[in-house]
Amino acid sequence: MGIESSCDETGVGIVRWVGDGTLELLADAVASSVDEHARFGGVVPEIASRAHLEAMVPTMRRALDEAGIARPDAVCATIGPGLAGALLVGVAAAKAYAAAWNVPFFAINHLAGHVAVDTLEHGPMPPCVALLVSGGHTHLLHVEDLGKPIVELGTTVDDAAGEAFDKVARLLGLGYPGGPEVDRLAREGDREAVVFPRGMTGPRDARHDFSFSGLKTAVARFVEAKERAGEPVPVADVAAGFQEAVADVLTMKAVRAAQDLGVDTLVLGGGATANSRLRELAEGRCAAAGLTLRVPRPRLCTDNGVMIAALGAHLIAGGAQPSSLGVATDPGLPVSVSQITV
Ligand code: ATP
Ligand code: MG
Ligand code: FE
Repeated sequence: MGIESSCDETGVGIVRWVGDGTLELLADAVASSVDEHARFGGVVPEIASRAHLEAMVPTMRRALDEAGIARPDAVCATIGPGLAGALLVGVAAAKAYAAAWNVPFFAINHLAGHVAVDTLEHGPMPPCVALLVSGGHTHLLHVEDLGKPIVELGTTVDDAAGEAFDKVARLLGLGYPGGPEVDRLAREGDREAVVFPRGMTGPRDARHDFSFSGLKTAVARFVEAKERAGEPVPVADVAAGFQEAVADVLTMKAVRAAQDLGVDTLVLGGGATANSRLRELAEGRCAAAGLTLRVPRPRLCTDNGVMIAALGAHLIAGGAQPSSLGVATDPGLPVSVSQITV
């Protein structure tokens, strides 16, 4: 069983280890507080924590019912990274359930979970590069084996990709979360009408890092200039041009990282991989480069408990020892630490 509460989704997932790196999905219960954050234009930590408290027990009941079991063999929970208060709720619940059921507890890394969940869809994971893009994260990772530490190749130096979608959506007067709205509007626009800058793609920039804050500012300047000139803002073209810039940089760097490392598989994860242009460009560029692209279904890309159960199952199968019930949450946990034991 995996319990997830790092951001605004309360998730309880249950998987079964079939053998040889293969998992079976038994239950996937998720409750989201996204609607409660909408009027603030972003996740409000206190509201998220309270929502986790209210949703935890009902979500747990749903997961157990769905799997048709009375208790799991092990309880895993996201120990970090994430919002401090939100993490506490899921971890406290996981420790309590583990103690009450007398089963081992495993304190698991959320980011590594986003990678491991793909094995539910596509089977055992070969050495790969993983691109994680969500509201809070933008990471390029090198995964040799899910049982070994994941190596961070690069990350964003400012805004996360999903966060940039949310901020640009706000600039264009669209709703929250912004990603789906920008994606929808971009379909009606011309992605070449307005060309926005590709951050951190110059010859002196770190190869695997990202920057999206300059892009967001460029969009703001463009909109302001139009308004000052009394001209209508071509919102669909702006959405399409912005989305193109994000998808272009993400896929270009991901493919380049895979080529640099000599791996032949790229895995995508995180809620922003729902983006249609990102998927399209990733498919095209992977095909051109001879890479296999693995993208889990959208439901598994956003935050959920199944991804935590999936990573836990791989670690347990690899001989991991349970975590102490005294383990503390770590809001800034680096991706290289898949599990905290003490
Ligand atoms: P974390 O960063 O901890 O994973 P999160 O809740 O911010 O948590 P997810 O739930 O995985 O992340 O994803 C939500 C993000 O994905 C939001 O920023 C949202 O705007 C973005 N997103 C969702 N659909 C799309 C889309 N079609 N295009 C672009 N971005 C999208
Ligand atoms: Mg979310
Ligand atoms: Fe996440």
